[in-house]
Amino acid sequence: MSESSALVLFSGGQDSATCLAWALERFDRVETIGFDYGQRHAVELAQRAIVREKFADLKPYWREKLGDDHTLDLSALGAISETAMTREIAIEADTKGLPNTFVPGRNLIFLAFAAALAYRRGLTRIVGGMCETDFSGYPDCRDDAIKAMQVALNIGMDARFVLETPLMWIDKAATWALAQEIGGSALVDIIRTDTHTCYLGERGALHEWGHGCGQCPACKLRADGFARWRASKD
Ligand code: ZN
Repeated sequence: MSESSALVLFSGGQDSATCLAWALERFDRVETIGFDYGQRHAVELAQRAIVREKFADLKPYWREKLGDDHTLDLSALGAISETAMTREIAIEADTKGLPNTFVPGRNLIFLAFAAALAYRRGLTRIVGGMCETDFSGYPDCRDDAIKAMQVALNIGMDARFVLETPLMWIDKAATWALAQEIGGSALVDIIRTDTHTCYLGERGALHEWGHGCGQCPACKLRADGFARWRASKD
């Protein structure tokens, strides 16, 4: 039987780092893909190599499985997205309640590029940190959107990709718990101190939940999830 393989959408944030650990535990060969689209928190891209290296140090069999990293330039996405992620404007909700950090269809575009790369690399699973529980109103994080995309990609590429979303039905507290379950406190510590979530790209002081401004929606979600996970352990 041929080896199992996966391409992980790896941004350098908490969710995608947890997905990378999840994939390294399950599949024989794991490659990563990251997208540079002019996001204000480009610092998260810089954390990707650091996290990959620390994961490889954590378990020898993870080092053996961890394959190439790919970074794609999607600056065209930034160019068409007049949003707070790429422009110097305040983060706020629009009239539909969507945060103006929303880049329309961003995850669909990421998945299409990931599938094209996976096809060329012979990787059969595509793993992403999309989550419907804490989805902040992003419609392309919903399970229906991902399932529809899987069908479209497989028909359009005459392929049999499986889109894996291990975080789809769990919240941020459970995401920390999943990291603990996969790699114990050593993995939690890497994710806590070396992944990046803050929309403003703030690293600065290390809080117990990691680096960040502590005020933006992404920091609040991460800090709240960490606090709830810690409270559930006590
Ligand atoms: Zn922040």
